[in-house]
Amino acid sequence: MNTDLSHFYPDILIVGAGMAGLMAANMLQKYDFGVMLVDKGPGVGGRLATRRIGPGRADHGAQFFTARSAEFSRWVEQWRSKGLVFRWSTGWGDGSLAKAKPDGYPRYAVTGGMNALAQSLAQGLNFRLNTRLTALAPTATGWQAESETGQIFSSRAVILTPPAPQSLALLDAGQTKLASLTRTALERIKYAPCLAGLYWVDGPVNLPEPGALQRPEARISWIADNQRKGISPEATLITVHAGPEYSQQLWPAPPAEALAALTGELRPLLADSTQIIEAQLKRWRYALPTALYSDRCLAAADLPPLIFAGDAFGEPRIEGAALSGLAAANKLLDILFK
Ligand SMILES: Cc1cc2nc3c(=O)[nH]c(=O)nc-3n(C[C@H](O)[C@H](O)[C@H](O)COP(=O)(O)OP(=O)(O)OC[C@H]3O[C@@H](n4cnc5c(N)ncnc54)[C@H](O)[C@@H]3O)c2cc1C
Repeated sequence: MNTDLSHFYPDILIVGAGMAGLMAANMLQKYDFGVMLVDKGPGVGGRLATRRIGPGRADHGAQFFTARSAEFSRWVEQWRSKGLVFRWSTGWGDGSLAKAKPDGYPRYAVTGGMNALAQSLAQGLNFRLNTRLTALAPTATGWQAESETGQIFSSRAVILTPPAPQSLALLDAGQTKLASLTRTALERIKYAPCLAGLYWVDGPVNLPEPGALQRPEARISWIADNQRKGISPEATLITVHAGPEYSQQLWPAPPAEALAALTGELRPLLADSTQIIEAQLKRWRYALPTALYSDRCLAAADLPPLIFAGDAFGEPRIEGAALSGLAAANKLLDILFK
């Protein structure tokens, strides 16, 4: 492994360039602070993930989002006015003959795939990718984080947006002593995994309007045609998500076996003549929070400024992550301007 002895001195370090981290950075950069985002991934977005296969594209993490609060709706309207997001549906069928019953909430998707929203939010921000932090420890003036390649990040304040077990692991590796109430609150947060199958197919696929079905209680919770969604004009790419229980059950299986199980569930929706050109598996260990912290963010007690945020704080999903990121930024501003 390469070693990189760079030392960075942002005022505020944001760990994680997913929805929560990007929203927090967008708010904080309006103030006179040096803000740096770091992410272990090769791109921004975290679970806002779009993959290219052959000439096509598929969203393989988050598929769509809702905007139920006035605060998030304002952001969504700005994105819509720029053509960045579009209304995809107002509800999903389950693949049975019964028609989908719209529930009144628009579901939005992103032009070019969900990751394009993250890329747009990242414009003008200072971030470092492929940077996996391995330890975070308090210092006399704030925090010091270390990456797996030896980079050091010294900052006055930190916002942690990874899934709670990953944030705790970072702090434990830095031998940071959390107040017991903070640790207990973080340890109570739980997530369900998700196994995703991505398929490039040639031939008809039998999915209800508008090209997706949702069955929250079934083994397969979601199947969508990314071409009909409008993000993959050149090729038919299908996304299949196993539900939480089935994902848990398949988790220990070798990848080829897990993928074969997902393919078996997709097959009845494909015409006999439809060929699968390529199939890929993606495993999301922390896909959706199942036990959440009650508030939109959590400020650590008795330590330099440290805020925990993400989709497990207050509300799940993209909207929850966005609102959590904004709440974390506001909380940090309160602390820094006190
Ligand atoms: C399969 C799947 C389907 C989903 N479907 C939907 C949907 O249809 N609608 C919806 O609203 N939501 C959906 N979600 C949930 C939605 O994607 C998330 O709620 C949201 O994207 C979470 O954003 P976040 O910023 O909290 O976390 P993340 O996006 O997970 O961001 C955290 C970031 O932290 C980084 N990180 C972690 N550890 C470190 C480290 N040590 N060093 C550096 N970086 C680190 C990670 O790389 C990651 O980029 C889905 C999620 C999955 C996985």
